[in-house]
Formats: sequence, structure tokens, C-alpha cells
Amino acid sequence: MIELRHVDKLYEKDWFTLKNINLKINKGEFVFLVGPSGSGKTTLMKLIYMDEFPTRGEVIVAGFRASKIRRREIPLLRRKIGVVFQDFKLLPDRNAYDNIAFALQVTGTRRSETQKKVLKALTDVRLSHRRDAYPYQLSGGEQQKISIARALVHEPFVLLADEPTGNIDPEGAAEILQLLREINTKGTAILMATHDLELVKRLPYRRLQIEKGEIKSDTSLREKK
Ligand code: ADP
Ligand code: MG
Repeated sequence: MIELRHVDKLYEKDWFTLKNINLKINKGEFVFLVGPSGSGKTTLMKLIYMDEFPTRGEVIVAGFRASKIRRREIPLLRRKIGVVFQDFKLLPDRNAYDNIAFALQVTGTRRSETQKKVLKALTDVRLSHRRDAYPYQLSGGEQQKISIARALVHEPFVLLADEPTGNIDPEGAAEILQLLREINTKGTAILMATHDLELVKRLPYRRLQIEKGEIKSDTSLREKK
């Protein structure tokens, strides 16, 4: 599904942002990527959706290899991956419905099909009643749910969530986490980056601890409690 083999990433000479990352994420797994700000979490995610490429080593995602992928194949890869960000990245001049529909319109999905999929996505995040609201009318938690709905509308095999609770109050953050767990139960793998160990440490999922660009621990390599 997702594999990184001996991956180094240097944005600048002699400075490792990521160092010798070896990692496999399997179908349907739920993984937390935990580490302080600047430890390389976002860069690792960018390598997975191929917004950045490794300096050394190989990244393989859904059969696409970073070393071989062609520019025109990248949109095909991106359709298999859902991505959500700390700052939601919704289009401010479109309502919730249209923000989700836009993701399908750009790939030429029929109108009737689009409608069906968008309504299902809105129901999945329990925001059908907010379909006409614009981003500025929604709370942070609601905006993040719309952004998750948009990410899921292509039915990706994995959802990458980069600090998805970073801009949300604690109650909203717990709801987002709960929503990600539900999505995972339905079969979508989740990779969620966070600097907030407290938020995730009691959950029974695999945890990768990243520090200064290196994976310091991986709970899947320890004995299960
Ligand atoms: P995190 O998401 O854990 O906060 P990042 O992956 O954003 O970490 O950043 C890790 C390190 O890489 C930081 O030192 C950051 O300054 C550096 N970095 C990230 N992106 C770039 C870039 N485009 N150019 C140069 N340095 C970068
Ligand atoms: Mg980051």
C-alpha cells in the first residue's frame, strides 16, 4: 500500500529533514505520526502524496514509485489518496456542498453521480443540514468535517490527515478523532500527524514517533499490550 525504503530528504545541502525512513503502512491500518513541530511530519506526508520527492531511497504508494512516476500520473495517484490539512483549505466562495462537489467536477463526474456522492459524504460526516453554509459560517470543527468529506469523495484507500485537530477546540478535536476512527472502521487506512501525544496516546492504534527526521519508535514493532 505505502512503503518508504531508506528514504532521506534534504531540502538543503547537509541538512537532513528526513533520515533513513523505513516504513510500511498496510491496507486499513490506523497510524499516528507523532512528533514535535519541525520533526518532519508534513514532509513525510508530502512524500506520500508525491508533492515532494526523496533525495535518496524509494517511496511506493498504490503501486506508483516516486523514482518512476510521470508528472501526468500524479493526479491518478492523488485520486487514490485523501488529504486533509490543519487549515482546512476550503474554497471560501463556495458552500459546503460545492466544496465537496468541486473535487468530483474536476474529474468529469456526471451531475447525478456527483450529487449522490456529495450527499453521501455529507451524511458520513453528519453535516447534511449544513450543506448550504459557506466556510465562514461554519465552526473550525465543521470546516474540518467538510474537508474530510471532500477528501473521501473519491473513496481513497488512505486518508492522510496533517494536524487535522490543530486549529480546533478540544471538544471539536475529539469529534474529528472519533470521525476518523469511524472512517477507518469502514476500511480506509488513516495516517494522522500530530504534535499532541496527549490527544492520541490512549488510543489503541499504531504510533510512529518522529524526532529530528528519524523514526524513534514504532509501536507495531513492540509486543502488543
Ligand atoms: P513538521 O510537519 O513536523 O512540523 P516539516 O516537515 O514541516 O515538520 O519540517 C521539517 C523540517 O524541514 C523543518 O526544519 C523545516 O523548516 C524544513 N522544511 C520543510 N519544508 C521545507 C522546504 N520547502 N524548504 C526548506 N526546508 C523545509
Ligand atoms: Mg507539519
